[in-house]
Amino acid sequence: MNPPPTLLALPAFADNYLWLLHDGLDAVVVDPGDAAPVERLLDDLGLRLAGILVTHHHPDHIGGLAALRPRLAATKGLVYAPAGEAIPGPVHTLKDGDRVELLGLGFEVMDVPGHTAGHIAYMQRDGAGAGQAPWLFCGDTLFSAGCGRLFEGTPAQMHRSLSRLAALPDRTQVCCTHEYTLANLRFAAAVEPGNTAIQEHLELCTAVRASGRPTLPSHIALERRINPFLRCSEPAVAAAARAQGATSDDPVAVFAALREWKNRFR
Ligand code: ZN
Ligand code: FE
Repeated sequence: MNPPPTLLALPAFADNYLWLLHDGLDAVVVDPGDAAPVERLLDDLGLRLAGILVTHHHPDHIGGLAALRPRLAATKGLVYAPAGEAIPGPVHTLKDGDRVELLGLGFEVMDVPGHTAGHIAYMQRDGAGAGQAPWLFCGDTLFSAGCGRLFEGTPAQMHRSLSRLAALPDRTQVCCTHEYTLANLRFAAAVEPGNTAIQEHLELCTAVRASGRPTLPSHIALERRINPFLRCSEPAVAAAARAQGATSDDPVAVFAALREWKNRFR
């Protein structure tokens, strides 16, 4: 049996995380917007690059591809990317239900359109080993206590994508690509002032950030309690959305009003 892989969050730019899994020999990186932190880590730990997983086409998720490609040669590794997006090739394209095997682990592909039209997520159900929590690499679809902006999709698409992610197992570790948690929790508290789970998590994350650590990964059970965008069917969330212009309690209408509100929330 191989030892379970290690999951690392490499900070990049102002608030991105590049997620990297390695088993001591080979590594897989998700959404390398910048090559430099990945190259440094591979060199420091003496790791080969076995594959690159891409969730969507935005520059802060693919900017490091060109510089990292030569590193794939030693392992004959590939760049995996969504079929519905224009990613500089060569790439192995993926769609909903496809499966990628890397580091001896299976990564299941889910179509999660909304932030971009072809956005995909990767679900790794074995997590850190047999019986451990699964990992979800969801790009800019789901953030802790928030969600991505709707650049290319409709509220109905994004609501459906988030509902699929919310239905994943409770313990699923949510590996989002941005450290937006504190700002998202302040918005969540404005949506649901009476939700004590939001207040408690805001206090915890304030301390975590003060010590310079990531607030991620989160997990699905927590997100169901604190993330307003996963709580559109809650009466308190629907009422708050109504006060911001939602015309009905339909979850998609609630979601659309919340997303608009968040866009102008400071
Ligand atoms: Zn993006
Ligand atoms: Fe991004």
